[in-house]
Amino acid sequence: MERPGRGGGTANEDNKQQERSLRRDDAHQQYVFSSLRVFALMLRSVFAVLAIASATASAASFDIRGMDRSVRPGDDFYLYANGQWDRDTVIPAGAPFVFGTVNARRTSIERLGSIVDELAADPASRAGALYRSFMDEARLDALGLGPAGPMLRALTGLRSKEAVAEAMGRYGNLGVSTFLAGTVDDDDRRPGHRALHWTSDGLGMGDRAYYQPGTADAAKVAQAYQAYARQLLARAGVPDAPRLAAEVLAFERQLAAPNSPEGGTPVYDKVSLRDMERRMPGVPWHTVTRAFGWPEGRAMLIDEPEVLAVRAAAFRKASVETLRAYLIVRFLDAYAPYLSHDVADLAFAFDQGVLKGVTAPKPRKERGADLIRRFIPDDVESIYAARYFSAAARAEVKALTRHVRDAFARRLANVTWMDDATRKRALGKLDNVIIEVGYPDTWRAYKGLRFEDDDLFGNVVRGEAWQHEWNVAQLDVPVDRHEWRCLYPSTVNACSDDTRLALFLPAGFLQAPTFDPDADPAQNYGRLGETVGHELTHQFDRAGSTFNEDGLRAPWWPAAVRERFLAREDALVKQYDAYEAAPGMRVDGKRTLGENTADLGGLNIAYDAYRAALDGKEPPVVDGFTGDQRFFLSFAQNNHGKYTADGLRHVLLTNEHAPGHQRTFEVRNVDAWYRAFDVEPGDRLYLPPSERVRIW
Ligand SMILES: [Zn+2]
Repeated sequence: MERPGRGGGTANEDNKQQERSLRRDDAHQQYVFSSLRVFALMLRSVFAVLAIASATASAASFDIRGMDRSVRPGDDFYLYANGQWDRDTVIPAGAPFVFGTVNARRTSIERLGSIVDELAADPASRAGALYRSFMDEARLDALGLGPAGPMLRALTGLRSKEAVAEAMGRYGNLGVSTFLAGTVDDDDRRPGHRALHWTSDGLGMGDRAYYQPGTADAAKVAQAYQAYARQLLARAGVPDAPRLAAEVLAFERQLAAPNSPEGGTPVYDKVSLRDMERRMPGVPWHTVTRAFGWPEGRAMLIDEPEVLAVRAAAFRKASVETLRAYLIVRFLDAYAPYLSHDVADLAFAFDQGVLKGVTAPKPRKERGADLIRRFIPDDVESIYAARYFSAAARAEVKALTRHVRDAFARRLANVTWMDDATRKRALGKLDNVIIEVGYPDTWRAYKGLRFEDDDLFGNVVRGEAWQHEWNVAQLDVPVDRHEWRCLYPSTVNACSDDTRLALFLPAGFLQAPTFDPDADPAQNYGRLGETVGHELTHQFDRAGSTFNEDGLRAPWWPAAVRERFLAREDALVKQYDAYEAAPGMRVDGKRTLGENTADLGGLNIAYDAYRAALDGKEPPVVDGFTGDQRFFLSFAQNNHGKYTADGLRHVLLTNEHAPGHQRTFEVRNVDAWYRAFDVEPGDRLYLPPSERVRIW
């Protein structure tokens, strides 16, 4: 799972709004198309795959050619389902891995690109103006840092902490990520209402782990960050850049401590301005909140009180000179992509290269489309939805999600580790979850937001300011749980919004191979059905147990229920800890536990839903495979992925998901899989029934 913070200059562009308590299952999210050459390569592979699909569509809808039938399914179900795909698939140059959804991503990007091309050719289009301003590279290079001049001079002129705090608020409103960050977001104790939140943000290296002494990687990244800060400061004409860059790094190290415990008890810290002044003196809190444009006298929530206290202490100790340098670095980092090449390249090399391992930027046209989606997404997404997601497909997916939901309800009603009262509440919670399919029912108009052809920098400032004002204006507007705030309709991914109890399945995600209205139901349930089941179980796992049936941040499991759940999960930890994914490198059973638990639930639920959807009829045997076999094969093929050695190492060390190969081994815990493939004692994946993990 992933819970992104509020967005700054390095925001993931495929994520609609970086807000709190959103979860995206991001195992497939990290792949970034990295060069024009790769773009061409991928185009070819799109056509290749389409050709295979049409050749086999009438025979079987899963990828028979991708299988390796010399492997026994009970020995390695992943290789049985994907062995040939693994051998045939080439990882594009510069990419850490490639997944089966890569073609769907490419299709989605191309479709979006063609819409953007049309808008770019329309002189009256607002999206077109924004795009044209981004594509005029010659003009950007001629202007250099010029457009940023006034904002830069305002920063170099800061002479007091009061002024620094005010600037932090004001620049924060314009998309500059600083350590005193605030936003309007849902009130975790009052469902349907929003509140003012103090959030944690403003670290140049993003992840707090990079600031802790220890690994060689962290030291290397810190060194690169210091060099990057020095170059930005020098480029801005700040004297003594090397010393100040070192001070910025040292200062951020103070901001980064302590590391908040993962999965700790949720905090609900409601404070007044006076409380903050008393608890964390030395920071002009009033000045910052006024700069945010927050209404006076309202209570505020501190999301991570210990972190904010540490940051306040660091602010107190720091000199104005250090704070000024820090702000200049944060400002240039956020706006570099909209300035001349030299600065944009510096930011790319660090934010994308050093931090994410991306070796070349996405094609500029794609980044231009990303920029439109950042500020006025519905201007293009509404066209995408109307063009590429039919009403019939939407209705079919809704029917599938109903079957999945019903199957989960039947399982929830029978789980033995819950007591009667908890089971009842769980069923009530499942009832409250909404599933949004394809695209929103209403589109936003972004009233008053205008863009100019010849002013990229100003466009970004206006876009950020508009979003900030809109965000603050939401404070007294009731929460609309149907609001698409985590993903775009064209995104090839799904998102679960914990506090709003809402699951989002974008049109971009609902295309082949994940969902295909013409495909065998076994495939749609093995892929999409499993994913929907997986996402739904997240509402009833360790994380979901801290949000109740109203989306309220309130633990709702009695201690005994929690203990029984954890005991079952423990068996899953041991199972995954035993998998060697690369020579000498095992899967981390603890880190990947939440996702493995959800996979187990998703697989069981989707299987039940598939059988229920058949309505008692036995599906035909196709190409020698029964419906049950095609269901499990589709699940395994949905998990195919190929990694470079580095890519695999990175996933094993940092990702909450196990690599696809080991995710597929979840079938060992599902009785129906044994029946479908006659798996017996002696097969490597065989587990006696008593050792199969059963949670849902
Ligand atoms: Zn998940």
